[in-house]
Amino acid sequence: MNKPTVTTTNHQIVIVGGGAGGIATAASLLKRDPTLDVAIIEPKDVHYYQPGWTMIGGGIFEPSQTRRAMAEVMPAGALWIRAAVAEFLPESNQLALESGERIGYQILIAAPGIKLDWDRVEGLTDTLGKNGVTSNYRFDLAPYTWKLVQELRQGTALFSQPPMPIKCAGAPQKALYLSCSQWLKLGRLSNIKVAFHNAGGALFGVADYVPALMEYMNKYNAELCFNQNLVAVDGPAQKAWFEVTDEQGQKTRLERRFDMLHVCPPQVAPDFVRNSPLANAEGWIDVNPENLQHNHFDNIFALGDATSTPNAKTAAAVRKQAPVVAENVLSVLKQQPLKAHYDGYGSCPLTVEHGKIVLAEFGYGGRLLPTFAKIWLNGLKATRRAWFLKASLLPWVYFNLMLKGREWLAKSQPNPK
Ligand code: FAD
Repeated sequence: MNKPTVTTTNHQIVIVGGGAGGIATAASLLKRDPTLDVAIIEPKDVHYYQPGWTMIGGGIFEPSQTRRAMAEVMPAGALWIRAAVAEFLPESNQLALESGERIGYQILIAAPGIKLDWDRVEGLTDTLGKNGVTSNYRFDLAPYTWKLVQELRQGTALFSQPPMPIKCAGAPQKALYLSCSQWLKLGRLSNIKVAFHNAGGALFGVADYVPALMEYMNKYNAELCFNQNLVAVDGPAQKAWFEVTDEQGQKTRLERRFDMLHVCPPQVAPDFVRNSPLANAEGWIDVNPENLQHNHFDNIFALGDATSTPNAKTAAAVRKQAPVVAENVLSVLKQQPLKAHYDGYGSCPLTVEHGKIVLAEFGYGGRLLPTFAKIWLNGLKATRRAWFLKASLLPWVYFNLMLKGREWLAKSQPNPK
């Protein structure tokens, strides 16, 4: 019997994922050299500006402000292959699509994002979007967060944060601040018990920002519960269970009733990444943190949430990573040494109240790297200017600069060493 034939199409540069990282890198490459043959493999027909979902949950943005047709954000000159990648085959410079088709490449850039692992919390999937259980981590649920905030007059509101790494590590507490800010404004906060259940042991990973954030936790009278990981939810009974780890490492279970529960889901590398030769022991794409080249395959680069780099997983990081990958890919094509260097920049605009933000900007090792903060505002304090940046400027920067290869405040730097 004849074997079924496998069609293979080849491209000079193949990008996996048409999210923030894939589109920004394709645009940066084509800006440098419009003659490049760039194909982007992306199954979805909608592209989301995910940083805006916190603002939907806080009643500031309309959902439509955060979504675009995928065709609209595809850079001119890039070929969109509307398909999902099933397998990386780096030994043969190929990818297998879910359809069985193969795509060959000279250079591969992987930007497939992170997997939201809702099923890791028992009972959660069934109750999302009802019984007071919500999450700004899903486009369709963020409006429900705002609905719950408006409707809640008294009772208990819980906000959960899973173990790191997660995308936008500040997003779980941003949901808390914006909810409390609204309840305070409506005069209801004194009737609502608020708690932040964090699987980690600190309010924020970079200590310099903690004092400004603590001011707001105190102002909102929020109970801080560290080393408490959400493990199960019973929606109809409105009960949540947290695994509590004490100083000796002993684990116990805590049951809490709620009227509103905002969940940040556990997050892991996508399965097709985790089970591939590209992954490190934890499942992330194993790249050099400074030049974003794969540690074993010289013609593979990666950026965004799926990589092993220890930066904050944010679109802000991607804004800086995309030009680095574009520069270094061109160097590989020209058989020159890699020049561009990524310093680990990431940013988290912490929406501490309606109208004010603490703009955290930092690189590898928690080193403060103010860019907006340096030219324009004090990043260690809540300011109105930072709110203007997040609410008005950054969505425009994302769609009109970053996704178009215009590298404002994001030019790649040579390696300082
Ligand atoms: P994504 O943008 O998620 O894109 C991944 C793409 O890969 C998707 O289009 C997906 O469909 C595609 N894909 C997946 N599997 C396959 C496959 N098998 N084959 C082909 N394609 C595939 N960042 C900030 O900078 N500031 C913020 O304030 C901020 N707030 C946030 C708040 C929330 C609630 C959330 C959810 C995120 C927030 N972020 C924020 C994080 C930011 O959105 C992400 O870090 C960024 O989108 C990462 O880009 P990426 O390209 O790695 O992944």
